[in-house]
Amino acid sequence: MFHTDTIAAISTGMTSSGIGIIRISGPDAIAIADKVYDSRSGKKLENMPTHTIHYGFIRDGEEFIDEVLVMLMRGPRSFTAEDTVEINCHGGVYAMNRILELVIRKGARPAQPGEFTKRAFLNGRIDLSQAEAVIDVINAKNEYALKSSVSQLKGSVLKVIKDIREKIIYHIAYIESALDDPEHISLDGYPKQLEEQVEQWKEKIRTLIASSENGKRMKEGIRTVIVGKPNAGKSSLLNVLLGEERAIVTDIAGTTRDVLEEQMSLSGISLNIIDTAGIRSTEDVVEKIGVKKAKTYARDADLIIYVVDSSTGLDENDEEIMEMIRDRKAIVLLNKMDLDCITTEEDIRKHLDKPVIPVSAKEEQGIDRLEQTVKDMFYDGSISFNDEIYITNMRQKAALKEALDSLEQVSVSIQNQMPEDFFSIDMMNAYEELGSITGESVGEDLVNEIFSKFCMGK
Ligand code: GDP
Repeated sequence: MFHTDTIAAISTGMTSSGIGIIRISGPDAIAIADKVYDSRSGKKLENMPTHTIHYGFIRDGEEFIDEVLVMLMRGPRSFTAEDTVEINCHGGVYAMNRILELVIRKGARPAQPGEFTKRAFLNGRIDLSQAEAVIDVINAKNEYALKSSVSQLKGSVLKVIKDIREKIIYHIAYIESALDDPEHISLDGYPKQLEEQVEQWKEKIRTLIASSENGKRMKEGIRTVIVGKPNAGKSSLLNVLLGEERAIVTDIAGTTRDVLEEQMSLSGISLNIIDTAGIRSTEDVVEKIGVKKAKTYARDADLIIYVVDSSTGLDENDEEIMEMIRDRKAIVLLNKMDLDCITTEEDIRKHLDKPVIPVSAKEEQGIDRLEQTVKDMFYDGSISFNDEIYITNMRQKAALKEALDSLEQVSVSIQNQMPEDFFSIDMMNAYEELGSITGESVGEDLVNEIFSKFCMGK
């Protein structure tokens, strides 16, 4: 066998399909799976015969994550010829991500694109033409995945990474040029200066990594909050929207326990709906509470859906809500259009310049217009994912860690007063790792940079 490490990846599409498969391959595949899998019988996979399927649960410590079927295939009788475990979970991007993240925490490494196939090839399971055929498909898929994962990176994250890369390449170019042309470009005192820079880059990368690990579990999607006065029809709307997708219901860590975040797909666009509909009060102050809660949740939302009961008039609570969403991305739903209309589109438009859509949650009317509006807003870029700095994709996270390691190495080299060309090697690694996140590769930009910056006219 060529490989000593164990890799893992989601091998089905990242959609809310019925079933998702997390594949683990390598010498520790079974041991890692045993750390997260809880069989009904209490038996360990390690003691099970090869090519068997087991029913049980995935747990993160005490926390239940999903009900699963686990397939056990010992090498060499597996696709990669290595010990392989495939966890069949209930699908949904969130469950798959949680399980993959857990498996990685327990010792696997995120697989590179095509890596399972590469292993199958290297271990003699498939020939090159078969490998190429598979890799072609994967590449096509990955190009899409890379594009979409890059596009999901917040602008602010991309900017931080691009800035660091730009500076790294500048310094690599500087060192190369100085080594080429010591007469004109001096490296006296340079390591000290570089060291300060490297510290700054490391700090920024650490922040990015930390933001992905601070417990703020971000599900991919547009954070959407449904607001409106009690009885406007928020729960009814939510039920219509969620339809049968209601299966994935999870607490979000770090927020009040009574708030649920549900993920749904609207015309292929993932929305995470913060479900405040369950917040109800029997007291008189009910209106106030509704508004106050809504305000809190709306603050972090990418999209606000404001539900108005069109069979009643607007009151000061509505005015307060409208004031709150004035400068936000919002859609107004005039619900209960099946009843006599008291509040009209014009009434809303007097206050707000937002899309207003008459709907009936009860009779499921107007929902297609809501979908279309969300779609339009998404594709024309007026709504997008939350602008906080987080990195969700595990491969991106791993690349950040690699980049950080390489930069640590640069610091060590500087402290040990190693020759300057030592720095470049590790800086180049960091540059490449960061490039794999932003989708930019090494190549011409480097060459051009070096020659344009320092070698002009020679
Ligand atoms: P929430 O307090 O905003 O979550 O409102 P609910 O979804 O619980 O709805 C309040 C009441 O309005 C319930 O009795 C619903 O059946 C009713 N309702 C909701 N949507 C509609 C609708 O489109 N038409 C009619 N006629 N009634 C509705």
